Amino acid sequence: MLDDSHQSTPESDQSERPWKPAVLRGWQGHCPNCGTGAIFSGYLKVNATCPNCNEALHHHRADDGPAYMTILIVGHVMAPLFLFVFTHYRPTPLVLATIFSVGTVVLSLYLLPRLKGALVALQWAKRMHGFSPEPA
Ligand SMILES: [Zn+2]
Repeated sequence: MLDDSHQSTPESDQSERPWKPAVLRGWQGHCPNCGTGAIFSGYLKVNATCPNCNEALHHHRADDGPAYMTILIVGHVMAPLFLFVFTHYRPTPLVLATIFSVGTVVLSLYLLPRLKGALVALQWAKRMHGFSPEPA
C-alpha cells in the first residue's frame, strides 16, 4: 500500500516545497505556489500576494541578487562572443559597438525579470525570510 499522506499536508506547516517547479514558475513570471497568478505587477514589482491563490509574496528579499546574476550571465555570454566576432569577422568599430550594445541591453532586459522571479520562487520554496511561518 502506498503512503500518500505527504500530499495532504497543510500549507501552513514546515513541509518541503519542491524547488524546481517553483523556480520554473518564477522564471515564467508566475506564482511559485499555484503557477497561474502573476508574480509581478510591473516589470520588476513583485505582487504583495498572488492574485489567483492569495499566497503572500511580499516576504521576498531578492535585493541585488537578480541584477548580480544578470551581470554574471550577460558578461560571460557577451564577452567571449565579442572576442569571437572581433577575431573572426573584423567588423568596423561602429558596427561592433552598435550590435553588442543593443545585444547586451536586450539580453539584460530579458533575463532580469526572469531571474528575479526565479529567485523569489526559490526563496518561497526554501521558506527563506518571511516565507517561513516561524518568526525569524
Ligand atoms: Zn498563486
